[in-house]
Amino acid sequence: MPPYAFFRKQFMPLDEARVGVLTQALHYGTACFDGIRGNWDDEKKRFCLFRLQDHYKRMLDSCRILKISLPYSIDDLCRLTTELLAKSEYREDVYIRPLAYKSEANLAIRLHDIEDDFLAVVATFPTYLDTEKGVRCCVSSWCRVDDNMIPPRGKICGLYVNSALAKTEAMENGFDEAILLNQSGHVSEGTGQNIFLVMAGELITPPSSDNILMGITRDTVIKLAADELGVRTIERQIDRSELYVADECFFTGTASDVAPVLEVDRRAVGTGQIGRITTQLQRLYSEVILGRNARYSDWYYVFSPD
Ligand code: PMP
Repeated sequence: MPPYAFFRKQFMPLDEARVGVLTQALHYGTACFDGIRGNWDDEKKRFCLFRLQDHYKRMLDSCRILKISLPYSIDDLCRLTTELLAKSEYREDVYIRPLAYKSEANLAIRLHDIEDDFLAVVATFPTYLDTEKGVRCCVSSWCRVDDNMIPPRGKICGLYVNSALAKTEAMENGFDEAILLNQSGHVSEGTGQNIFLVMAGELITPPSSDNILMGITRDTVIKLAADELGVRTIERQIDRSELYVADECFFTGTASDVAPVLEVDRRAVGTGQIGRITTQLQRLYSEVILGRNARYSDWYYVFSPD
């Protein structure tokens, strides 16, 4: 059974889902997407689609920024996702990628009066960062795009040129990941991750006004830290040099999980080992994404394919 896509309002084998070369989104990045975890629980023989509704709510918000109007409700999108998963016959962790895009063959540079469409594909789950060994980062020479340039609160395709520039620079200089500062020099986020520091037993993370994507893993970790560990999170501006003096640092993201940052700009973070609070959050997060903690049943969209 080949992998399936939902494309032009129907399900079809992935290799039959193709866009034309004049598609507006291909030229100008006028599209938005989301990334959703489907976690396969081999014991219970089911998928836990983690915070599925929240991902689609965020995608519909990104659509509003781009003047894309989809004929689907959040419930429709959730149903469509499980149908795609059922057709694709995976029995392992998967990554679901919905994309809403300006689909018209029209090279006019604008958002209005251009047809749009929606597609979704499913793939095996990528290993993005080494969450066991931890990651080494640099502060990027690229600045985070500002809200009044391309709004980073949307997962807008064109915005990811900013992330790709920073990621490639970091990796070609021998680091695993980049940390971007915003225009005012404050810490914003990673190329596809939010960032947290641990200082004096509290979590510190940049606020939405520092040009971050409001990550669903970020929100999950803030709640787990408060409810399960009694650790509060302060959302405030973070100076670059705080990265060098923090006790612990970690990234959060759907593809990145909770990823310990052990080094920034060739300075060890804390002891240079994975910290206590980071370890606890990694454990809690890996449990909730499988839908195994009844306290968070609102986060689980469980689907048994057989
Ligand atoms: N920031 C950026 C730029 C991202 O692309 C992502 C990945 N979606 C995140 C943060 C983390 O968001 P989430 O936890 O919702 O995956």
